[in-house]
Amino acid sequence: MSNQFRDFNLKEELLKNLEELGFTKMTPIQEKSLPLALKGDDLIGQAKTGSGKTAAFSLGILNDLKVKIQWPQALILCPTRELAEQVAVEIRKLARMLKNVKVVTITGGTGYHHQESSLEHGAHIIVGTPGRVAKLIKTKFISLREIKTFVLDEADRMLDMGFYDEIMGIESLLSENRQTLLFSATFPEAIVRLSENVQRSATMIKIDSLHEEGDILQHFYRLESHKDKNKSVLKLLGNYLPERTIIFCKTKVITKNLAKFLKDNGVLAEGIHGDLDQKDRTKVLTKFSNKSLSVLVATDVAARGLDIKDLAAVINYDLPMDSEDYVHRIGRTGRAGKKGLAFSFYLDPEEYRLEEISEILKKDCVDSVLPEEKEFVIEPPMKTLFIAGGKKQKLRPGDILGAMVKEAGLEPTDVGDISILPISTYVAIKKEKINQAIQKLSNGKIKNRTFRVGHVD
Ligand code: ADP
Ligand code: MG
Repeated sequence: MSNQFRDFNLKEELLKNLEELGFTKMTPIQEKSLPLALKGDDLIGQAKTGSGKTAAFSLGILNDLKVKIQWPQALILCPTRELAEQVAVEIRKLARMLKNVKVVTITGGTGYHHQESSLEHGAHIIVGTPGRVAKLIKTKFISLREIKTFVLDEADRMLDMGFYDEIMGIESLLSENRQTLLFSATFPEAIVRLSENVQRSATMIKIDSLHEEGDILQHFYRLESHKDKNKSVLKLLGNYLPERTIIFCKTKVITKNLAKFLKDNGVLAEGIHGDLDQKDRTKVLTKFSNKSLSVLVATDVAARGLDIKDLAAVINYDLPMDSEDYVHRIGRTGRAGKKGLAFSFYLDPEEYRLEEISEILKKDCVDSVLPEEKEFVIEPPMKTLFIAGGKKQKLRPGDILGAMVKEAGLEPTDVGDISILPISTYVAIKKEKINQAIQKLSNGKIKNRTFRVGHVD
């Protein structure tokens, strides 16, 4: 089987764009699912986060899209607004060179009105959450008659969130001849049943993430009590000094407490969990992905699907509920050429869980001894600068980078990720240069205008 997108009969615009994006090799899930997707077959795909599932299902959709027809031709359901936005952004990126492709998101949290009017203007691809899509169907604003491809992304999580009835309600309105692609990180009984209800002789594609596991150093620590975990985290951070670490906890409360404990001990850490509002969540995730935060503490649910990878370390503060999630969690560590670190704590009564994990890994999980506690400092390489202007003010990455170089006197290499939000922008700047950048930009101009700028705490 070939690795090159060129070997498929994709439109030239798509191929050229993939080259520009630097997608030269297919990921394993793309390699296996794209031929089926292009044939119109149903499939169930299982692969870890960051494996390129979005392109795996979107390229087939984009290749067959009839742009002249003003009806929705593909419907993609995602568990949350954030994931739906992420998928829509990725599809728009893949569709850049096709003319006039309209991708519309239909999600909760905002009013219906603009979603209805963007549908009226002719959407080709709808990306939405099951709750909001089901509601808009009732108001007759979405026509699903011409949907050729139905995608359930992160299906296990949609079921966890109680969306089964909405999914089935939506499905009942779709044509029988459609194609259905279902992606899920885990395969509990409920997913098998969902597949039986919405798919026809689907091909199962499973990408074993285990082959990469050799690049990850895995340590297991048996602790006497849950109370020992906080100190143990400090021991690990102090000895390994990982630049970025994600720590997985079982519950929201544990997540909050651990993030506070780490902050109290001088570590730049933040937690993400269900209680965080969207704005704070975006801020925390932006800081973590642009390397101005050392530690992200999260529940599985809060971290699922997010494009966070290449981490120096993953700590399983609590073992995952589902042992298969162990592999997904540790897959976020390990960069090209560098070994990842995966540390897991477990308590006596959880010993059987270790056996389950060892069965999945097909190797023994041996206990390690924790290192001694040390004084330490982990400083992220970047700091985040805030600009009180964003998409609404028509700011683009080029404007920001231009201002950083011309007005603030930085080198382009001092500037990291630039995240432009509706009315604000976050820019990662090398930590030594952040004060200079803020000072000069406060008096200088971006795109011929003055904007308020400052630190992001
Ligand atoms: P998943 O849904 O499996 O978690 P995504 O579809 O969000 O993963 O993809 C993760 C990242 O990998 C995205 O930033 C995407 O642009 C990138 N990506 C996808 N396919 C390729 C490829 N063939 N080559 C290089 N990068 C890719
Ligand atoms: Mg995804």
